[in-house]
Amino acid sequence: MTARSSVRPIPAIHGGAPVPLPLWRDWRWQLAHRLRTPEALSAALPLTPAERRALAAPAAWRMPLLLTPYTASLLSTLPPSHPLRRAHLPDLREARHAPAEYPDPLGEDAHQVAPHLIHAYPHKVLFLVSRDCATACRYCTRAHLPPCPGCPPPDPDPALRWIAAHPEITDVLLSGGDPLLLPDETLDALLTSLRAIPHVRLLRIGTKVPATLPMRITPALVRILRKHRPLWLSLHFTHPDELTPETKKSLRLLLDAGLPLCSQTVLLRHVNDDESTLRALFENLVLNGVKPYYLHYTDAAQGTAHFRSPIPRGRSLLRALNGTVPGYAIPLFMQDTPGGGGKHPLGPS
Ligand code: SF4
Repeated sequence: MTARSSVRPIPAIHGGAPVPLPLWRDWRWQLAHRLRTPEALSAALPLTPAERRALAAPAAWRMPLLLTPYTASLLSTLPPSHPLRRAHLPDLREARHAPAEYPDPLGEDAHQVAPHLIHAYPHKVLFLVSRDCATACRYCTRAHLPPCPGCPPPDPDPALRWIAAHPEITDVLLSGGDPLLLPDETLDALLTSLRAIPHVRLLRIGTKVPATLPMRITPALVRILRKHRPLWLSLHFTHPDELTPETKKSLRLLLDAGLPLCSQTVLLRHVNDDESTLRALFENLVLNGVKPYYLHYTDAAQGTAHFRSPIPRGRSLLRALNGTVPGYAIPLFMQDTPGGGGKHPLGPS
């Protein structure tokens, strides 16, 4: 199941011309050449009739169309029925809003204490430091703050002042968007400012770039992250076929720098809600030095009903894995309380 060969550029990504490997391996080139239109996607991938219908109806999309050339090339090596396509390509069902779905399902706006700073737990804050993601996920919880390619990052100063004035805050989770899309100097300056606040002890970064833009994990970036330890990385993985040689190399770079890695996965109907897929994902994460930490029940975000796999199914999948994979490979099954109020465990038992 796991893709074993390196992801190579498909010429269609670059107007039919071959892409030189030094460009391909440059994360800035990848960001600048993201696929953002139905025309670009149609040129890169053979599409199914349902995908074509969804691409022709952008008003139905809950998220923008946004793929790195790397992700598009990975998808091109997989069959058209592959579940990873559902995670990244528009679907007409996104236009359906089921009862008890919300535009801001975690009630983050109500917990905003400074611009881009969410305070939902007594001792920690969520700091939204970036407005862009490498590749848009169709099931994203923050569709009300969709990735904004090329937008400047938010001004962090008001949030930094709020954290400095609140000594009870010991734990800061950087998210977005994806914090690792910030330029090196910007990220370094931000982490330096946070480290200068005496009561901030733990820094965490939530990111999907090892899966969708692994070339972003450069030696220079790793040196910056290493400098600001203790710093944990919370990596977003969806499917075992994301664990390509490039992704594994990016994980090794992070591990070699002494950065602890854990993962979060959203349980997604017909994407990863089967035993063999979760087994392969969690086992391979452990074998590559990543502790599967959370399996999330899909948040109640508008237009995601087609992704929601029932809670009993998630529980039974984890029970099936229990005892048949290393204990390290079993994540906690969690739900974020709709409307805010934090996470609570759903199982496996
Ligand atoms: S990487 Fe995270 S924030 Fe960005 S689109 Fe995907 S789920 Fe949303």
